[in-house]
Amino acid sequence: MGTKKFLAGYIQKRYSLGMRISGGTLVTSAGLKRADVVVRNHRIEAVLRPGENTGGPQGDEPGIDATDLWVLPGAVDAHTHFGMPLGNGLTSLGWRESSEAALLGGTTTVIDFANPEREETLPSAVTRWRGMADGKIACDYGLHCTVVQASEERLAEIPGLIKAGIPTFKGFLAYKGRLMLEPPAMKSLMAAIAAAGGLLLVHAEDGQMNAEAQQVLTDTGRTAPRWHPLAHPPESEVRAVSQALEMAGKTGCQLEIVHASLGQTAELVGSTRKSRQAEAAVRSTGSDRRRLLCEVCLHHLFADDRLYEAGHKAALAATCSPPLRLNENKAILLEKLATGEIDFLSTDHCEFDLKTKSAAAAGGFPSVPNGCGGVGERLVVSHTLAVVNGKLSPERWVEAVASQPAELMGLTGRKGRLEPGYDADIVLFDPRPKYRWEPLGQSDRAGSLWAGLPVQGAVRDVWLRGSQVVAGGRMIAGEPGGLFLERRF
Ligand SMILES: [Zn+2]
Repeated sequence: MGTKKFLAGYIQKRYSLGMRISGGTLVTSAGLKRADVVVRNHRIEAVLRPGENTGGPQGDEPGIDATDLWVLPGAVDAHTHFGMPLGNGLTSLGWRESSEAALLGGTTTVIDFANPEREETLPSAVTRWRGMADGKIACDYGLHCTVVQASEERLAEIPGLIKAGIPTFKGFLAYKGRLMLEPPAMKSLMAAIAAAGGLLLVHAEDGQMNAEAQQVLTDTGRTAPRWHPLAHPPESEVRAVSQALEMAGKTGCQLEIVHASLGQTAELVGSTRKSRQAEAAVRSTGSDRRRLLCEVCLHHLFADDRLYEAGHKAALAATCSPPLRLNENKAILLEKLATGEIDFLSTDHCEFDLKTKSAAAAGGFPSVPNGCGGVGERLVVSHTLAVVNGKLSPERWVEAVASQPAELMGLTGRKGRLEPGYDADIVLFDPRPKYRWEPLGQSDRAGSLWAGLPVQGAVRDVWLRGSQVVAGGRMIAGEPGGLFLERRF
């Protein structure tokens, strides 16, 4: 290609990435305001008063009319499992299908998990995971790295991963005999992460207690899917959360309790934060800047354990860990999300179609893969069940699904906000339409917790780094363009 032709194409491409979204209502964590968003070179260049001129030669951007629509930052889901290989060969939807559901649902960034095999090095797991995702994923993504063995070799790999943009790790107090770290191992993992300046995500259920509960159930022939939640008693979560908080305090490790399913979990995190602040005040060391985070997932916030008694299929669809809890619990979690005691709303998206779960159920509930979809549902379902009824203000909603996960997970300056310099990840959301929910893209209807739910609000258009990827609620055909994101604290 000649230089002239190349430059013409280059300039055209750059130009076409410039645009001005006008007439819409910006929903940011600072509140709602009428404003225009100017995009150039993949980034947000300016946020202007309606009609205000940029004052430069850039006044000629192609216009996008957002009248009557909400303009949101592309949402960030800090907890997904796309295309995860399992030991028995089962997989959820692939990277492309899962990420397309994410984009259609207004999520432009996810943070997924690289899960090493027992003897595998952490960098090798990350390389393997990137090999699965790159070229297939249609949204941007980062990775947390799971640690299943706290040997000296593995712990020594942590600082290198943090340098490579993976500052968050995951450890399990649950799944005895598979992923669980015994208390001494968990403690050394926390100490290593604390020393390196990372953060540990903990799946806080007591693996021993769950294993014993499961044994009692299977010994007495109670192996149908409806018994699954009884193998995960609430006491097990409370005990593990307390243990994780205590260990994090002792080791100085930054901690996130993932998928809090009980109000009590958020309370324990909240009271630990308060006592840390009080301690810091006494020692007059200023505020304690170590992160102590609490996440809630869509299904724990808006679905409950009545599904386990609603028939075999419903019980299978709701098979996840921690399980769905009592109906009364949902209001407490939502209140804690509204006040900020719970930091953000993720999905733990881990989709298995109903056929896969049904086939596995022949071996009893312990054989059924745990997980629910939700990455496509998060915005519309939470808008319907929390924003429309006033339980969550639009600004706190945007904070919980975009700004907070981005900022707390190390994406400040790039993702989760509509501010100059940030990536032009933009969602046009129509808060008005009422309809019944249908799973997006290739998500399985039968395995969905949300199919048929009366909802309000729809994701209309989505841009990823200035390129439109969803128009009128449909994917724009093209090669998947998701990028790996290095995250920094
Ligand atoms: Zn998970």
